[in-house]
Amino acid sequence: MRWPYPPGESRQTAKQGSPNPAALLSWFDRHRRVLPWRAPPGEVADPYLVWLSEIMLPARRTFRRKLLEWYDRNGRSLPWRETSDPYHILVSEIMLQQTTVTAVAPYYMRFVARFPSVTELAQADIEDVLKLWAGLGYYARARNLHACAKVILTRGAFPNREEELLGLPGIGSYTAAAIAAIAFDRQASPVDGNVERVVARLFAVEQELPNAKPTIRKLAAALAPVRRPGDFAQAMMDLGATVCTPKAPACGRCPFAGTCVARKRGDAETFPRKKKKREGHLRRGAAFVAIRADGHVLVRRRAPKGLLGGMTEVPTTEWIADFDAARALAEAPQFAPARGTDTDMASRAVSWRRVPGVVTHVFTHFPLELVVLRARLQKSAIAPDGMYWIAREDIAGAALPSVMRKVLAHALGD
Ligand code: SF4
Repeated sequence: MRWPYPPGESRQTAKQGSPNPAALLSWFDRHRRVLPWRAPPGEVADPYLVWLSEIMLPARRTFRRKLLEWYDRNGRSLPWRETSDPYHILVSEIMLQQTTVTAVAPYYMRFVARFPSVTELAQADIEDVLKLWAGLGYYARARNLHACAKVILTRGAFPNREEELLGLPGIGSYTAAAIAAIAFDRQASPVDGNVERVVARLFAVEQELPNAKPTIRKLAAALAPVRRPGDFAQAMMDLGATVCTPKAPACGRCPFAGTCVARKRGDAETFPRKKKKREGHLRRGAAFVAIRADGHVLVRRRAPKGLLGGMTEVPTTEWIADFDAARALAEAPQFAPARGTDTDMASRAVSWRRVPGVVTHVFTHFPLELVVLRARLQKSAIAPDGMYWIAREDIAGAALPSVMRKVLAHALGD
């Protein structure tokens, strides 16, 4: 690579002559290295990453050496680590998506014994693949793995670069990087939850997840070595799984105990920072508890999909932010008329009384407040369409969600 001496100058003349900043910048534009903490041309670099790179660069070699030494002594012994067959590593990585190492191990052994190569998996019947997967959950993974094997067989070669792997069925950025690093020793850096935690603590990344993900990925990429990148990736995962655990990290056993920023600050457990879950706006509504003279209670089944899908409930109004209690009665269950009366008269004959107080419940996305209206009906009362009576003694064994148990306890005084 030639240094950009000003036009018409040689090395000797340039030494004596004036520097040429424009030529230097033009040379830099053409030859700049792509580094995780450098912004693309024309953009401003993240000062936090630049600052970290200044700390990290001098220490990076020591960091890698220490981690690999630790891994050689403490790495977990796992069935898929006894092979470098990319297909076996693919199977293990797909199984490990959303599932623990302990749960995966026996499934992995059975799977690779039954389908020992890409060809055998690609030619297998999907039903046989699903049968072997039964119990491991997330069955889309099995279908994707099967489809992936077919694509690889058609191509005639196992893709060995991160970007080629990324296009295969069921392979996202983490899995592509993991296979590239572990099976092909490419300088890739897979970042799973374990690695995310280790990196966030090592550098005390103050940004909250999920916004911190790009920063953490860049930091992890800057650490990945050219030599033994597969071992390094697995070492980071093992360190997160066995030493830098979410609660009570064993910093005394960590190869980075002397340099970890979070440990020095004494608040390692608080990393990675996470965005507080939004509580959501309060929703309100009314629940109707109709009790027959023989003690049976009126219930219905919720729609199969959505919140509390398929569960049993007492009839309620909609749960909404601007609920108007005065209009709740309009949504009360309509009972079939007794002989000689019409539906309106039958429903007007039901006397709904408000039970003092409210029932509160917090769902993941919103808190709920229900007023409870109670009515007592004759034993002969017929349940409205889509509803049915349930005996008091059967309530305990019914598929009632917690919020409905609270409503019944409130109404029945249990
Ligand atoms: Fe995690 Fe402690 Fe090691 Fe820091 S020193 S990386 S907090 S185990």
